[in-house]
Amino acid sequence: MSAVEIQNLRKSFGSVDVLHNIDVTVKDGEFCVLVGPSGCGKSTLLRTIAGLEQASGGTIAIGGADVTHVAAARRGIAMVFQSYALYPHMTVRDNIGFSLKIAGVAKQEATRRVDAVAQMLRLEPLMDRRPRQLSGGQRQRVAIGRAIVREPKVLLFDEPLSNLDAELRAEMRVELARLHQRLKATIIYVTHDQVEAMTLADKIVVLRGGRVEQIGAPMELYHSPANRFVAGFIGSPP
Ligand code: ADP
Ligand code: MG
Repeated sequence: MSAVEIQNLRKSFGSVDVLHNIDVTVKDGEFCVLVGPSGCGKSTLLRTIAGLEQASGGTIAIGGADVTHVAAARRGIAMVFQSYALYPHMTVRDNIGFSLKIAGVAKQEATRRVDAVAQMLRLEPLMDRRPRQLSGGQRQRVAIGRAIVREPKVLLFDEPLSNLDAELRAEMRVELARLHQRLKATIIYVTHDQVEAMTLADKIVVLRGGRVEQIGAPMELYHSPANRFVAGFIGSPP
């Protein structure tokens, strides 16, 4: 059974077709990276998987269940955005724990989960700080903590590191790889950074103009790109 199965997915805004017949299957525990030029529909695809946008056609299944018409909150998916949008007046602890409170998770269980996430993301010394007292990388770790504390089946990332400087990006790349191993989570991750794509992905999906150009393991795309566009994007010689 696949963790995420997207079949013949279409999305239009008014008369503008943004996604055309997308077929992507992501296996349980797989780290799938979406790449493609700006405006090709990467964010729209993630938002449609998350349920923040309604599909115009096709189906989305999570863990074998059709969720195409299921509300975002009930899909078992968490999403991390480029702009972390933390609650500025709340501490790190409360930012991470807030969704559990809303969901009515018992206090003792909530504390246990928040502490586990803090340990995993090395946020323990920062739990009483507020977002403005954190660096960019620390804020992004809190945003990731907030997403994983609900123990989602699928984690979606939309260019989560693009606001960070090169050094922090490199550090967070290592952190994300480690997190993926520990959580054994299914991840769909959008980036325009080739190094991120090549180092993090089990599978890369190359999008262009709302269509899938090629899907394959990083080395497959590198050595056998389907066309010059994929070659240019992955960085192998034409
Ligand atoms: P990417 O994330 O790959 O840069 P997006 O998914 O953000 O691309 O956008 C793909 C296309 O869809 C763009 O042409 C964009 O203008 C259009 N688009 C995205 N969201 C909306 C919307 N809410 N209404 C109308 N057009 C949109
Ligand atoms: Mg985008």
